[in-house]
Amino acid sequence: MSTDEEQLPKGVRYSYLPQQFADCEELWDQLKDFVASGDFTLGRELSIFEDFFANLIGVKHAIGVNSGTDAIKLSLKALGVGHGDEVITNANTFVATVGAIAELGATPVFVDCDETFCLDVTQVRAAVTGKTKAVVPVHFSGYMTDMSALMVLTNELGLPVVEDACQAILGSREGRNAGTWGDTGAFSLHPLKNLNVWSDGGVITTNSDILACNLRLLRNHGLVDRDTVELLGYNSRLDTFQAVVGSWLLPQAKDIAKLRIENAAIYDAGLIDLTQVRIPPRRPNEQVVYHLYMVFAERRDELLKFLNARGIEAKIHYPVPIYLQPALAHLGYRKGDFPVADHDAANLITLPCDQHLSSEQIALVIRTVREFYGASQ
Ligand SMILES: *Cc1c(COP(=O)(O)O)cnc(C)c1O
Repeated sequence: MSTDEEQLPKGVRYSYLPQQFADCEELWDQLKDFVASGDFTLGRELSIFEDFFANLIGVKHAIGVNSGTDAIKLSLKALGVGHGDEVITNANTFVATVGAIAELGATPVFVDCDETFCLDVTQVRAAVTGKTKAVVPVHFSGYMTDMSALMVLTNELGLPVVEDACQAILGSREGRNAGTWGDTGAFSLHPLKNLNVWSDGGVITTNSDILACNLRLLRNHGLVDRDTVELLGYNSRLDTFQAVVGSWLLPQAKDIAKLRIENAAIYDAGLIDLTQVRIPPRRPNEQVVYHLYMVFAERRDELLKFLNARGIEAKIHYPVPIYLQPALAHLGYRKGDFPVADHDAANLITLPCDQHLSSEQIALVIRTVREFYGASQ
């Protein structure tokens, strides 16, 4: 090995969690005070976090719940979705979107993706039936659904909208943030999401006072006070301990988004001339927050192996679209029903893009992709 090579980073890991919380003495101090307070469920620290979160997104209410999955589930429940109802969502999404719908006894009805992996709004009308009760657009990878078109349609049809914004915190389109368009927005604080706490966690955003009130009841067994159960709900509070962690991290949220956007721009510039790689459209009126940095790649599976063998933890999100998963076979969908989702599953590759990557690491990924295709460096 030449000295030059020895100085290169050894590889590029996907998970950055050890770095994320490497320097948090101040947080430990806050947690000591919190433990001493004994205020472990709901309470003051949770309210502080919720106000902070609502401000960040630009909505009237934020309601902490125990996961992004429950943020979707409780939203749908509050909007009256139940047994036998249909809920329209993306043919390709993380399983949680569909799990939340199914937990309520409702049936997911899939619609294909658009050119940026989100719900193809032009195909929603055709999926509506007499049983349709809601639409859950997933802002997949940090791209945003065409929300202004979707809201025109759903207003006309009288259908409520729950935005699955779990991958899109601070993503925006036409100057409006994810989670501010629909009746509610669902966010995840899972350790692998752009804004993460130390365990599971989620947040629901809404501008509706009535929904906010119902959601606060739903997350806490429907208890209005200690002795009165107004409706049957769930045990789905955001742990107050995690709210303390969340409040510590929230001031970094905008910088996290900014760094991911900068990293994505470096990748774009380093890959754009490759004929074997296609970068999805970058729209001027949209802020993509790159929960996942994904490009279409020729010989995708070989490229993945090549990168992994060099210690670069590229990934596939997802090799089998949700509509074709065995657990959903009873719905009767067949491969080919959603050609764009199929194409995405076969051609997209995800490159590490998080805020803790060094410019050397990004340069290494770009160089290695170029080497694979035999392109000039
Ligand atoms: C992560 C995720 C969820 C669920 O979030 P959890 O907090 O893990 O329950 C829902 N939808 C999408 C698209 C996600 O990526």
